[in-house]
Amino acid sequence: MDMKFELKAALKCSGILEGSVSQLDIDNCKTYCNTDLLKKGAPPGCGAEIARCQHFGNIIELEIVSDRFVRAHDALLRLKKEFGRLLGKHSIGIRGVEIEDYKITLDWEWGEGLKIRKLPFVKEIKQEKGRLELLLDIDESALDKRIPDRLIRLLEDKRDAVRWKGKSEHWELLFESDKKPFHFDKDPTEEMLKRDWLRHAAGRGQYIYGPQITKIIRALEKILLDELCTPLGYKEMIFPKFVAWDVWKKSGHAKGIYPEAYYVCTPKTRDPEYWEDVMDYFKVTNEVPVDMIMEKIENVGGMCYAQCPPFWIFLQGKIMPDEILPIMVFDRSGTSHRYESGGLHGIERLDEFHRVEILWMGTKQQVIEHSKVLQEKYRRIFNEILDLEWREAWVTPWFMAQEGKAGLAELKEAGTIDYEAVLPYSGKWLEFQNVSVNGDKYPTGFSVKLQSGEDLWSGCSGVGLERWAAVFLAQKGLDVDKWPEKFSSIVGELPEVFRFL
Ligand code: ATP
Ligand code: ZN
Ligand code: MG
Repeated sequence: MDMKFELKAALKCSGILEGSVSQLDIDNCKTYCNTDLLKKGAPPGCGAEIARCQHFGNIIELEIVSDRFVRAHDALLRLKKEFGRLLGKHSIGIRGVEIEDYKITLDWEWGEGLKIRKLPFVKEIKQEKGRLELLLDIDESALDKRIPDRLIRLLEDKRDAVRWKGKSEHWELLFESDKKPFHFDKDPTEEMLKRDWLRHAAGRGQYIYGPQITKIIRALEKILLDELCTPLGYKEMIFPKFVAWDVWKKSGHAKGIYPEAYYVCTPKTRDPEYWEDVMDYFKVTNEVPVDMIMEKIENVGGMCYAQCPPFWIFLQGKIMPDEILPIMVFDRSGTSHRYESGGLHGIERLDEFHRVEILWMGTKQQVIEHSKVLQEKYRRIFNEILDLEWREAWVTPWFMAQEGKAGLAELKEAGTIDYEAVLPYSGKWLEFQNVSVNGDKYPTGFSVKLQSGEDLWSGCSGVGLERWAAVFLAQKGLDVDKWPEKFSSIVGELPEVFRFL
């Protein structure tokens, strides 16, 4: 991508320049900068240049033009140092830098149909004829945070995302089970509602699970523990279910989670007086004044979305001895929450769901090998206990999808396997769990290291209990006597507790 940078800035000095610094000194400095300092690190003929340099009072005004090799904002930092050195000889310091104008022009191929309407730190955007012109609104502290470079990265990411969208999401069949006998052709949620096994709760995509389906879900969980977690040496942990922003910043979710997050807020104060108007409003209207509440709370993060990210704070900044690897832990301590919008469907797609998260870490080799062991164990469960018809596919890694980077899974070592089962009532396939090798993504994001200096890798597998139940019941039905022997003996008798008149 070809780029042009045009920056107008003023160096504010601690004293009046006239009488102290001569025009010759300034001209010499400019010449040195243009021939040497602003070309350093750039190919011959490239780099930045001071197009104009003027001083009056305690101000040096600079106009800098550059290509992408020494970007004008980097040039400015070099100039601030160099002029600082010159003025220092005359006991004058540089107090600050003011950015008057900053224009960045990028080559921007049209055809990709990407209209840039709004960007942070940009006051004006012009997009025409394969060019994108940005007028930035920044100060020195934004330069220190490398905002211009990050803006360009952001644009490149947006462009790549559009290119990917054209292609379909990556999906490659890895394994397919035998055909299996189906004993049901209805939507299991509908049937469970009819039988009072289940009732929709007061919230969106949220259910209250009655004793029968709860017993089924717990049996599925027990199978996972007895067949997989316990024999493989997994230890149980309890992960937080409120996720502070700091976690999602490090896990990468802060890049794209917003449309699907359940947000969590705390009161701005717990002083009852501050809340009295809200309480009074409810007392006289019997309505909860949500608008009034919104002004009295502040957002601090969200509800558990992907389960494993908040675990990593446990290891953050630590160094571990290699001999304790591989480490295998799991969490089943609470709900996950996602705003699924119009996609809600029975217990297949919920806003509140229950999941066991399996997490392992080790050297790259250990993590990849363990993922194969898990795949074997899962196949055994689905074949021999649940008798499911299912398939496994190599897909866009979940961590790329959740950062808003759909696209090719060109990675072969790190990546995600989705497990899908067919729902006879609709003929559609539903993802009911995954197995992911996440590479060094989390250890890097949370600064976790190994004593040997080797890279720490990790993997995780999210087992959606409602999804397991949904695919099993959709294929095998709700009548216990039609279920595979092994499974019905694990479930035992279904409790009958409620009756309604
Ligand atoms: P989908 O493509 O169906 O939305 P996903 O790719 O968003 O699924 P992941 O982020 O991979 O799902 O989550 C891991 C597991 O969590 C899924 O395999 C599934 O078992 C479960 N899960 C995810 N979203 C839901 C949901 N809305 N309702 C119930 N279970 C879910
Ligand atoms: Zn995970
Ligand atoms: Mg989803």
